[in-house]
Amino acid sequence: MDSDAPVILQSEKLAKYIVETAVYPREPQLLKELRELTQNYPRGFMGTSPESGQLLSILLKLLNAKKTIEIGVFTGYSLLLTALNIPLDGKITAIDIDRKAYEVGLPFIKKAGVEHKIDFIESPALPILDKLLQDPSNLGTYDFAFIDADKWSYVKYHERLINLVKVGGLLVYDDTLLGGYVVWPEEDVEASHRPYRKALIEVNDALATDPRVEIALASVGDGLTICRRIA
Ligand code: SAM
Repeated sequence: MDSDAPVILQSEKLAKYIVETAVYPREPQLLKELRELTQNYPRGFMGTSPESGQLLSILLKLLNAKKTIEIGVFTGYSLLLTALNIPLDGKITAIDIDRKAYEVGLPFIKKAGVEHKIDFIESPALPILDKLLQDPSNLGTYDFAFIDADKWSYVKYHERLINLVKVGGLLVYDDTLLGGYVVWPEEDVEASHRPYRKALIEVNDALATDPRVEIALASVGDGLTICRRIA
């Protein structure tokens, strides 16, 4: 998640090989343009990595996902990617506190002709999730949730999303390996990164022991934990 963090593969060369061989040549043009623009945007490193995006594309298609929710939009790489991989009448509830960043990616979303699939909500995510949960017609109706926002709220998001996503649906958490910091001794990690490290360790423990989901922690990008709701 951070430009200073080591790649989780521990080999820059291998990480470069993966993106140059399998990812960049197949990346849809508008996603490529948005990724390149985002690189020059403040905190541009926050964008979901294209190799994670590639895996998300396959998951969305395998699932025939139609109704999805995203927490943490930023400039919209994962949002545009989701919109490109759900049907014409698919819907994404996209939540972020930062409308300005969303508007950076909006022209790409419009150009792709997928804006009608997106309901962007400018707000902290928790109250929106709580509001969605108050309406029984929302329970167990989402096919897919992508979570890529404030790491210390992931467990709280999980407790809400587990009731919004249907049994058989997916909840996917980004940055769960945090550049490998989750296995570093705390004192070796730069002070500003320690709260993230602590939060992600707690998230990984919570997801690994949650009997309501089966999980796979994929060491792609910055770590992507794929949870399938089973109960
Ligand atoms: N998935 C995005 C992409 O593909 O570019 C990257 C998301 S970025 C890592 C994290 C985003 O979470 C930021 O845009 C930030 O504004 C948002 N965020 C942080 N705290 C939030 C909160 N409490 N509720 C909603 N969004 C939040």
